[in-house]
Amino acid sequence: MSNTINNVMLELTRIFQEADLAETPAEQVQRIVDEISLVTGADVCSLYLEDKNKDLVLLASHGLVTNHPIVIPGGRGLVGMVVKSRHTLNIEDPAGHPDYYYVPQSDEERFHSFCGVPLVRRGKVMGVLVAQGYKAERLSNEQEAFLSTLASHLAVLVSEITLENVSESKINLRYEGISGAAGIAIGKAKLSRAESLLDVSEQKHQDADRELQQWAALRAATVDDLSQERDDIQAELGEEISGIFEAYKMLLLDPALGDRVELEISHGYTLLAALKRSIYHFSDLFRNIEDPYLSARHEDIERLGDKLYQVWLRDFDSQKQHKAELNSINSPVVLVGAHISVSDIASLPTDKLVGIVCFDGAALSHIAVFANALGIPAVMGVGEIKNLVDGDSLIVDGNIAQLIRNPSLVVLSEYEVIINSRQHFDKQLKVLRDLPAITRDGSHIQLLANSGLQADVKPGIANGADGIGLYRTEIPFMVRDSLPSEDEQVLVYQGVFHAYAGKPVYIRTLDIGGDKLLPYLPVTEEENPALGWRGIRFTLDNVQLLMTQLRAIVRAAEGRDNIHILLPMVSATSELDRCIELLGDACQQLAEEGYSILRPKIGVMIEVPAAISLLPFWRDKLDFISIGSNDLSQYLLAVDRNNPLVGKLYDPLHPAVIHELKRIVSSAREYKLALSLCGEMASDPVAVLLLVGLGINRLSMSSTRLPLIKWIIRSMSLADMEAFVERALQFDNAVEIRKLGLEYLASFGIDLLNLQDSLTHSLAQVSSGTELK
Ligand code: PEP
Ligand code: MG
Repeated sequence: MSNTINNVMLELTRIFQEADLAETPAEQVQRIVDEISLVTGADVCSLYLEDKNKDLVLLASHGLVTNHPIVIPGGRGLVGMVVKSRHTLNIEDPAGHPDYYYVPQSDEERFHSFCGVPLVRRGKVMGVLVAQGYKAERLSNEQEAFLSTLASHLAVLVSEITLENVSESKINLRYEGISGAAGIAIGKAKLSRAESLLDVSEQKHQDADRELQQWAALRAATVDDLSQERDDIQAELGEEISGIFEAYKMLLLDPALGDRVELEISHGYTLLAALKRSIYHFSDLFRNIEDPYLSARHEDIERLGDKLYQVWLRDFDSQKQHKAELNSINSPVVLVGAHISVSDIASLPTDKLVGIVCFDGAALSHIAVFANALGIPAVMGVGEIKNLVDGDSLIVDGNIAQLIRNPSLVVLSEYEVIINSRQHFDKQLKVLRDLPAITRDGSHIQLLANSGLQADVKPGIANGADGIGLYRTEIPFMVRDSLPSEDEQVLVYQGVFHAYAGKPVYIRTLDIGGDKLLPYLPVTEEENPALGWRGIRFTLDNVQLLMTQLRAIVRAAEGRDNIHILLPMVSATSELDRCIELLGDACQQLAEEGYSILRPKIGVMIEVPAAISLLPFWRDKLDFISIGSNDLSQYLLAVDRNNPLVGKLYDPLHPAVIHELKRIVSSAREYKLALSLCGEMASDPVAVLLLVGLGINRLSMSSTRLPLIKWIIRSMSLADMEAFVERALQFDNAVEIRKLGLEYLASFGIDLLNLQDSLTHSLAQVSSGTELK
């Protein structure tokens, strides 16, 4: 083992690039160990991974005889020692070491040096990288340092690989992503092939008239298509989203585009080539405009170009083939692609579309928003999946943000059991729909739904929500291509208020910035976006946005006394004062314009910890407060809620959060402020014990969680939950509090690991009681 390593980073990059060319995980790890041997000159390079039983399984080796599985029992041998000690072991004469463990039939006795480096990911040793040599000499410091550096990179890659997908090659391949929408789906892959005009070659035509006729026909067919898609989406998801199609139609019918296409045809180009040249002509014009909003429009033009091309392929090229393909879909499909568009979704029969997987995308991307609204499980950001083909069998697990490709029969049947029991469970819980969420000792808890789309208004009502506890207005803003006008906003908000007539609705002013960006507003790079220009800070600086929105809310609230305006991210009295002043101005303006105004109630989200200490100063200015536990936890714990590296530290059950909640409850009581909570905590069964026990009796959550939470509340008394708070506060960490909570729930017949049985046992008891008036 004597190679000199000249440039560590270069060698590392090369090794990983080489591995990236592999088609299966097994081939990938094999390439890595081969390359490491080559670079370091080690006679053997092996990779061991710990399995569920803590045994170390040889995943791949360059140099060891591996025609049978090699497993080192947990903790044994030098490899086991590296795992236990969590540091590198670099020795000569390994056979003479007291911990040496001989792996039968490996021919290992031929090697007289051993260097084992632990692979550590997020504090856990996952495996060991081993280099061995014939000569009895330790690895040089330089080689040891190289292996250690490599191991830290390798740990990231290996964390994506499970033992199953290496040993069984192409079955049960798992891909981790970000959850776009909860739920589990089983279906066949349907790849969304984003055909692009960019790929068209620029050919010349023989007959200009024919091309011009085809252009007229193509334009008409595309207009029809866009109208149809708009209607379908409108029926399903409401006006706010379908507006995108209207915008495309306007672009398509713009005479400037038509003139340009005809000009290119008159220069001899075929229709497709003329389209490509025209679309990219306009897209470049927009791209070069300095104004960031107008510049961003180039994407719309390119998307329209792709739409035209897809219609051309369908109607003028391989019409029968494409239509036959779509009509032949008669089993559940999972739509998979790099960039899935709303049109892709609209092109599939809705009853057959069961899951969505995006190579890119984040939890709040448009497609995730759609998926949530449609109740379709979705996993985003899984990265590119090589060699995936139409018809591959997939399991989309939106609950744990995982995709399983080509699942084995055992895995499939396990998932089928989960889906069936979930459906049965949901059906049984329906009996609680019209019953109030009342504890066994008579405390009434108001359960509200979180919402943000017209499409999730219905599920809220279907699940028995007492109102909307948080309407996130940024969602209707995010699913459009430009800022909605005041009139457009009025329509959207009226739709929601009308659906919940007579029930309270808490509507939040725009909370953008941080991780929630509007694609059409200028992006400002910030070092710490979560601590930066977001929520009320952003809208007060762009006061025209806030004023338009306040006017729209007040107009939509005409004749209703149940509308509450919720301000996000307030951390200073001056912000609150300014908002109150603006709301006053909006009401006055509208009154002067002839509207009969009822000033909505005004309150703030308690999500920046600073707000808690300011409550005594705000007591007479506020009508209510609502705890945003997602952000409150992020800021109290100094843990970015979107950063997977620190994800395990993000737990709102942390005692620091509970103590602050206690403080808020006591302030709200003292200053007579109506209090609610609208973060994810309200959907978490253990957290609900704490929240109700602390005295919070208005909870807002994702509507699908409502029945489960109602069941828990009806199964226990307030006194039980108060007692739980006392016990929980004896602990200094969230893990033990959660464990205690699960045991506590189980002692009341709610076993979260065995929900179905628990529900069957308690159903008779919890479903007897007062009907909801
Ligand atoms: C919260 O922070 O708890 C909250 C409800 O707001 P959002 O998740 O939209 O930031
Ligand atoms: Mg928040």
